Amino acid sequence: MLNLQPDYLVKGSILKLSIQTLLSDGIRGLILDLDNTIMKPKAALFEADILEWLAEAKRAGLKMIIVTNNKNEKYLSSFDKALAELDLPMIIKAKKPRRTKLNEALKILDLPAEQVCVIGDRVLTDVWGGNRIKCKTAFVRPLLGKEEILLFRFLRKIEKLFLHPSHWD
Ligand SMILES: [Mg+2]
Repeated sequence: MLNLQPDYLVKGSILKLSIQTLLSDGIRGLILDLDNTIMKPKAALFEADILEWLAEAKRAGLKMIIVTNNKNEKYLSSFDKALAELDLPMIIKAKKPRRTKLNEALKILDLPAEQVCVIGDRVLTDVWGGNRIKCKTAFVRPLLGKEEILLFRFLRKIEKLFLHPSHWD
């Protein structure tokens, strides 16, 4: 069945996802989407606040692995060092919502599916894929690159011209 419903509907980026909540719900491992979830598009580096979140998750004992649909090997290998420092393995070209690579990740985490949460910014890849392999799923808002922030700011200004102020926040 097509299950697109996340267990955690986060009203913000992954930074708004409570590690304490995950722990108290019995989560022991995380399968992390890369682009827009823990790294801004094309950034090739982790922002300080994301690093802090990942460090906190690690301190809390959560096992973690990245599973990305990104296929650009040259780009992906450009931050190998950062991943090694974080001791964070990564599976690329995953073709989520296909199950093969997600199951591979589960095997590496060595945890039962119900103790693992798949976290991502896309319903049709991350949430659907995670639900298909019977993991818990968290849907987060995308991290935005600088250009996108500017674009959204611009679009909001245009919206402002059309919308009554009470219609938006
Ligand atoms: Mg993504």
